[in-house]
Amino acid sequence: MTTLLPVLGPLLMLPPDGDDDAYSLGDYEGAMTRWCHGCGNNAILTSLQRLCAEQQLPPEKTVIVSGIGCAARLPHYMGTYGFHGLHGRAFPIAEGVVMRRPDLHVFVSTGDGDCCSIGAGHWLHAVRYNMNMTVLLHDNRVYGLTKKQASPTSPRGLVTKTTPRGSRLESLNPLVTTLGMPNVSFAAQVVDWLPGIVMDVMRQAYEHRGFSFIRILQRCPNFLPDQFEDYVRHPDRVVLVTHEKGLTVDEATARRFPNRIEHDPGDLDEAMRIARMEDALPVGVFYRDDAVPCYEDLLAPARHFSPADRLAALEGEFDRFSVNPVRAGASGEGVPAGAADAE
Ligand code: SF4
Repeated sequence: MTTLLPVLGPLLMLPPDGDDDAYSLGDYEGAMTRWCHGCGNNAILTSLQRLCAEQQLPPEKTVIVSGIGCAARLPHYMGTYGFHGLHGRAFPIAEGVVMRRPDLHVFVSTGDGDCCSIGAGHWLHAVRYNMNMTVLLHDNRVYGLTKKQASPTSPRGLVTKTTPRGSRLESLNPLVTTLGMPNVSFAAQVVDWLPGIVMDVMRQAYEHRGFSFIRILQRCPNFLPDQFEDYVRHPDRVVLVTHEKGLTVDEATARRFPNRIEHDPGDLDEAMRIARMEDALPVGVFYRDDAVPCYEDLLAPARHFSPADRLAALEGEFDRFSVNPVRAGASGEGVPAGAADAE
């Protein structure tokens, strides 16, 4: 029975007999994946599709936003709406979507380079704005799409194309950074090779209203095949962070992972201590605060413009940048209408 579960799992997501309107797992499948064989991104994609089916998210009301990198290809593989944006710019795009369409279900798929390097400024402020979205940080500790350069999360000493003598910098810990920001409201860590836990934490992140940040340690067998092997082969190197308000595990999982700590996700100081753990790999929900206000709610009154208001605002902007024929010079070049106003 245990060995059949991975096969039967997707079937269990099918709509019950007679419920023709329910969405099935297949409704969330997009293009065929082009990730490398054995890439941990595949497990993350499957968990996201299963979550969508479980929560019955209408595909036309679900948006996956990404930047650039291997992780950023995920929107192509979903049967939902998606926005494959610019490098490091997934967060402002997702924020724009949430601001204008708070009724949509918004997910961000980003990598360690995309989020923690070129997109770091956007990431920090996205935590602070606490807008309602679920963030999947696929952290493989290397730039995969561009073929093995050091990323901000590469461990010190890692040999890559840009660090042939080994990376000399201490790595950045995305959870410590997230937990250190004002308005942090949800932070968790999971690993791609434990899909049941990925799914459980992803569900909690989705149900949390606000900026839900999940760092997913993701295997890149193409460029760093041994990076997480120690943790994969030795479950005692993993620490499950459990609590009734966070991750709960069944008996079989508890037997497999003997090291567990009980942690109330409401305790920020303890969450930070767990995130800094170096002698083992903590997995679970580190922090959660449902009372942090969402930026879109703070601005809600200003968002409700009537169609006439919007038209007037648009025309006003067009007027500002259109050419004023009356003031066109002898050279034939026009003068922007706004320039006349300024004089
Ligand atoms: Fe996955 Fe690495 Fe291949 Fe990118 S390069 S698709 S992260 S295995």
